[in-house]
Amino acid sequence: MISFINIPENSDFSIHNIPFGVYNQDGNHAACTRLGDIIVDLHQCMQTQLFDGLALPKGIFHKSTINDFIGLGKPITTEVRKRIQKALLVGGFLDNDIFKDSPLFVNAEKVKMVLPIHIGDYTDFFSSKEHATNTGLMFRDPANALLPNWLHLPVAYHGRASSIVPSGTPIRRPNGQTMPDGADKPIFGPSKQVDFELEMGFVIGKETNLGETISTDHAEDYIFGLMLFNDWSARDIQKWEYIPLGPFLAKNFASTISPWIVPMEALEPFRVEGPTQDPEVLPYLQYQGNKNYDIHLSVDIITQQGISQRISTTNFKYMYWNMCQQLAHHTVNGCNMRVGDLLASGTISGPTADSYGSMLEICWKGTKPAQMPDGTERKFIHDGDTVSMHGWCEKEGIRIGFGACDGQVIS
Ligand code: CA
Repeated sequence: MISFINIPENSDFSIHNIPFGVYNQDGNHAACTRLGDIIVDLHQCMQTQLFDGLALPKGIFHKSTINDFIGLGKPITTEVRKRIQKALLVGGFLDNDIFKDSPLFVNAEKVKMVLPIHIGDYTDFFSSKEHATNTGLMFRDPANALLPNWLHLPVAYHGRASSIVPSGTPIRRPNGQTMPDGADKPIFGPSKQVDFELEMGFVIGKETNLGETISTDHAEDYIFGLMLFNDWSARDIQKWEYIPLGPFLAKNFASTISPWIVPMEALEPFRVEGPTQDPEVLPYLQYQGNKNYDIHLSVDIITQQGISQRISTTNFKYMYWNMCQQLAHHTVNGCNMRVGDLLASGTISGPTADSYGSMLEICWKGTKPAQMPDGTERKFIHDGDTVSMHGWCEKEGIRIGFGACDGQVIS
């Protein structure tokens, strides 16, 4: 497939991708996709004959989120994506001089990408065996690093949706209560251990009613697409507050997402087998087929002066619990899902020290600081540092990516 739009080599936004996002230009929101460095305005596409015959409500792309579009269901959203893809090919519907200088095409540098969905509820899993083992080794009994439930269910907690922000939003270092080692009472002040968590989040595309469950066989019908997700964490606050109810203020000050939702159809060629699950899981968590995805992931720390260091390289394929199992487990008690809900994977750590998904693990609780090219070192994230996450799939000449998931920590 060749587009008439020039696509830079190694662009995340090839003709095979066609992700969905929302951009803001002078206060005006519109749904869009991206090809190379060009934003394609879908509201403008509605003014042409491109979507004729499809049951698209008027103004569906002229909104600040794409929840209503996603809610139309996969038969329609998949067809919309196919039509856009075909129209962008050489000789396609949009390969026409009348559209050349129209507001249908916008330079990506000239617009601001915003949060593309209204997220009603957000859940964070803990589904990487390597990550769960590492935290167990650091904080609990090394002989029993995994807690007894971990191999039997995808552990999770309910997070906070209001503080999820798009890539590029500055992250203020949180204040909070911590208990210094050896102290007899807690202190209050800025967290000294701000960390990232490299995750992927999936967007719910189809609602369920209270009381309904989703089987692993049908789970994919309910998953619209994926984004990169940075679950910012304040380790010192977390350590003091989390017992016995789990994460709270150490987590809810901010989470960053990449602004493009890559639909599951684009990820289809990159399915891979998941790890063997031993012991065998309960019947409602058993599944058929390849449910993991080969998505390369990286994290860079970029200092205020622009000095960059790659700190982690890993892959989404390592996840022990897959998205279908997470969704089956989340709804097995009848908890309902709504369009736009976000379910995050949990920190994605690979088998080696350079593939861990948090500073906590990379620097092993601060005992092995990471070296930066300017001679400084990091145990956690400093003020002025930008954490930049990227994700991409590559196979047989096809490459698709997620765009950046960036956030700068400020004081
Ligand atoms: Ca997390």
